[in-house]
Amino acid sequence: MYFWNRTANLSAVLAAGIVATSSSAFAQEPPFSNTAGTVFDIIRKGDASTLSCVEDAGRGMRQIWDKRVDGEPTVEAFLFMARYSDGANIEIAINPEFGSGEAALAEALRYARPLGQLPTVLRAGIKRFSVHGGREGFHAGTGQIVVYAETTDNRLSYDHLEESIFHESVHASWDAQHRLAEEWRAAQNRDGRFLTGYGAKNPEREDLAETALFAYAILHYPDRFPPADTRDTLAAVPARIAYVKALLPPDEPIHFALRDAVACETDVSGLN
Ligand SMILES: [Zn+2]
Repeated sequence: MYFWNRTANLSAVLAAGIVATSSSAFAQEPPFSNTAGTVFDIIRKGDASTLSCVEDAGRGMRQIWDKRVDGEPTVEAFLFMARYSDGANIEIAINPEFGSGEAALAEALRYARPLGQLPTVLRAGIKRFSVHGGREGFHAGTGQIVVYAETTDNRLSYDHLEESIFHESVHASWDAQHRLAEEWRAAQNRDGRFLTGYGAKNPEREDLAETALFAYAILHYPDRFPPADTRDTLAAVPARIAYVKALLPPDEPIHFALRDAVACETDVSGLN
């Protein structure tokens, strides 16, 4: 397709070192404000999920960052193990404030399937997915994602839970290796622009997660991302799109066997 050729040609030119960037180019306005606020439904409810079952793992003490108290208290969480057919499993920890095992399970099931829609490489780094009540912004660090139930309600209201989880999964799975990587920084410099205002404000912390979602759309679901926005994205950050392309090659399946899948002893997902 046209835009692909353009990316490929530009990548070749950039790789040859022919294009020089000027620092003033960073002054150009990013085409988007942030990916959480965009209207694009890139990952859809009906898309395949690798979720195979959910196991009730009882209660356990877990230390979980909580923005509401600006700290990392230890709580006796309701625990579930979400198992996926590619072997990239996740522990889901629900804050005890949900009150009962039933309520905790219902909450866990809001995320188990969308998490299974993530590309294997983005789920692989998530060791624990934690849920609190309240309405704070989602956040994540290496190996961990923390979300808040009322924010989830809000995201679901405009079909954006999957996209928000995708953004956080980049923090959990890729940040440690890529957000400060020499090649990523070089791509930022070559592009000389940011894709979103949020990424521009936080070039070291948010630019990768912000860029990755739109790159994923262009690479894997081009029909879900309007041509004009595809054009704007490729014009703004071609080197970063090429970087993400190497991590999520469009000609390879997003789901692949990472390790042998293990069946649940008792499945509480209601799926099977
Ligand atoms: Zn973020």
